[in-house]
Amino acid sequence: MRLRNITGSREVIADSAYVVKEASLEECPGTWREIFGNSNPIHIEIGMGKGKFLHAMAKEHPEINYVGIEKYSSVLLRAIQKMEEEELPNLKFIRMDAEDITKVFGKGEVDRIYLNFSDPWPKDRHAKRRLPSRQFLARYDIILKRDGQLEFKTDNRELFDFAVEELEPAGWKARAISYDLHKDEALMVGNIMTEYEEKFSSMGNPICKYIIYR
Ligand code: SAM
Repeated sequence: MRLRNITGSREVIADSAYVVKEASLEECPGTWREIFGNSNPIHIEIGMGKGKFLHAMAKEHPEINYVGIEKYSSVLLRAIQKMEEEELPNLKFIRMDAEDITKVFGKGEVDRIYLNFSDPWPKDRHAKRRLPSRQFLARYDIILKRDGQLEFKTDNRELFDFAVEELEPAGWKARAISYDLHKDEALMVGNIMTEYEEKFSSMGNPICKYIIYR
């Protein structure tokens, strides 16, 4: 998702209390308890987009701290606007490229990772930019606690097949796999639809989901 450049979005982000300041990101590893002021588990969404999913999750689970990561200012701005309408103490945002994720979270500091409708990067030579690629799984392996899990949803069957093939070489295992999430009663318990999930499921596209661990 890339919205038209919105004038002033960088300034709004720099001033927002909901966004962890870019200048202080490298001081974050090991300090997330202090940032939230409690020792609740930390769940992150990488490639959060406008933040609909994470905002709803944070509202429903005040006992969990959520961090949304988004590369583009113009998109993150929408998540900030939603927080201005309904502030939640257990939700923070970071504007960054997830390639640097290990510089922001310490070893095993994250309890759960969500990837929702990640960009497909269809060209083979761009495979390592895909968020469920083995290169990204190696980064998640560092920040995710030993018994933590990662959940991935997409309607893109090619990307999903690629993601499933990456598991074994990267040392991860599937706890659950569905090729039609919305017809899977067990996996649908507590499911919160993302913005893209609403859009593509309303067009009749089946949604794929896996839950993985190592
Ligand atoms: N997760 C949302 C949903 O399901 O509705 C948004 C999906 S959108 C297709 C993918 C989002 O991931 C975009 O907003 C894009 O900017 C962001 N993104 C892609 N690669 C990223 C990266 N390397 N680091 C941070 N954000 C990234």
